[in-house]
Amino acid sequence: MNLSSQLTQTAAQYQSKPAYYFEGQTATYGELEGAVTQFAAGLKELGLKKGDHAALILGNSPYFVISLYGAMRAGVTIIPINPIYTPDEIGYILNNGDVKAVITLDVLIPLFEKMNGALPKIEHIIVCDTPLSKEKASADISQLSVYPKMKSFTNILGLGAEGGEFPELQDDDTAIILYTSGTTGKPKGAMLTHKNLYSNAIDVGQYLKMSKDDRVIAALPMFHVFCLTVSLNAPLMTGASLLIVPKFSPAEIFRLSKEYEATVFAGVPTMYNFLLQYPDGNPEDFTSLRLCISGGASMPVALLKGFEQKFKVVISEGYGLSEASPVTCFNPLDSPRKPGSIGKSIVNVENKIVNELGDELPPGEVGELIVRGPNVMAGYYKMPEETDHTIRNGWLYTGDLAKVDDEGYFYIVDRKKDLVIVGGYNVYPREVEEVLYNHPQILEAAVLGVPDPNFGEAVKCFAVLKDKAVTEEELIQYCREHLAKYKVPGSIEFLEELPKNTTGKILRRALKQQVLQN
Ligand code: AMP
Repeated sequence: MNLSSQLTQTAAQYQSKPAYYFEGQTATYGELEGAVTQFAAGLKELGLKKGDHAALILGNSPYFVISLYGAMRAGVTIIPINPIYTPDEIGYILNNGDVKAVITLDVLIPLFEKMNGALPKIEHIIVCDTPLSKEKASADISQLSVYPKMKSFTNILGLGAEGGEFPELQDDDTAIILYTSGTTGKPKGAMLTHKNLYSNAIDVGQYLKMSKDDRVIAALPMFHVFCLTVSLNAPLMTGASLLIVPKFSPAEIFRLSKEYEATVFAGVPTMYNFLLQYPDGNPEDFTSLRLCISGGASMPVALLKGFEQKFKVVISEGYGLSEASPVTCFNPLDSPRKPGSIGKSIVNVENKIVNELGDELPPGEVGELIVRGPNVMAGYYKMPEETDHTIRNGWLYTGDLAKVDDEGYFYIVDRKKDLVIVGGYNVYPREVEEVLYNHPQILEAAVLGVPDPNFGEAVKCFAVLKDKAVTEEELIQYCREHLAKYKVPGSIEFLEELPKNTTGKILRRALKQQVLQN
């Protein structure tokens, strides 16, 4: 089984049930399945073959869903790319990923015009006909040098109107290559196979009890693996309906939840923070929600409790990474949920904590979290050394420091690379951040290590305040009351906002660079 063939089965069962809602439009499962087949056949007509690579540079929209499933059906490997990346970042991935076709938005065409000479491997640029294209119809695109390579999305659907035969997909064929944020060096392309993606979507769906009765808000960016598996693939495998959100805003989430009686919302902690702080956030708009899912970054316990108290809906925190398609742990829905924990291993996936030698550590001890299961990637594209370093003896080394309790609940302590060492003592930024989030004036906080002549490193904090009713000294004093001396920040700098990536993760490393440059 794979995602594409499972969609065919789900569509046969729920033919006239809505598969998605998007900006006032609805498509049934039957319509989605038809469009996916047409798109797959269109790609084939264009000359794309099994094993070719196509990049998807799109925001959240039905185009994304149809292209993704259509490409998979045609055996074409998809490389999703964040549309707000710079031309250099996009160019790197297109080259490194040996991309033959790009599926993108009209507004990005000028970018390809500039890169055309530099990207000889690209044979086709498939342009989605957004309302923007109509506005821009007056511009004479036929003058552009990339014009001969351009086809409209509708055109491709037309090419594939007759349907056709599709190649057989093997479990170990690469379905998607996900370029991970690349905290060190150049981004690496994690190759996720059909088996990886299918198994994780099914296991997550089961664990979270997704069903045809769910209406899932897809507000995370679809090019990110968290959204792909949790808010897109898992619901589509069960016959649930997607509520596709092109751009996250609290007002839109409350509106959608109320209007469509949403049952599941998945987001990163920053989104929960925005929802909680939103002055017009009415708990009644969330009465239909049965479950909120958090992942992607650690959820501060104070935020989790504040949100649950106000909106009367449980947040289940989980954990994952691109290389594991992504989910490895979730707080269970039946047994107790532990705030601050990422929960237990999901079905079919093993998690364990090891020391530097790779030996398993007993409960309570902090070590590296390693993972094994059908969801673990095949490797990094064209990077065998990086692959061997990350996957050892069948275990994926996550680079995250964690511990497990006696009941099998895991706790992320921090990223291995974010650990701050003050005079030989380990300080986990997350622990300090948890204390700060408990302070009523703190909206957001990020803690990191900065060079210190005496102790090697010192703890520094960047914070965003709710209003300006507290001083740096008062906050440091507050930390002194709750933390051992060596963990207390030496300085706290107030900012208007913290830098974040498009998934909403706070970029500690960008802050660190800022400190080092000054
Ligand atoms: P990505 O590959 O972009 O999905 O990023 C994966 C990384 O996000 C993991 O290695 C963790 O460092 C972080 N992460 C994901 N979920 C959590 C969580 N619940 N708590 C703490 N960190 C998380």
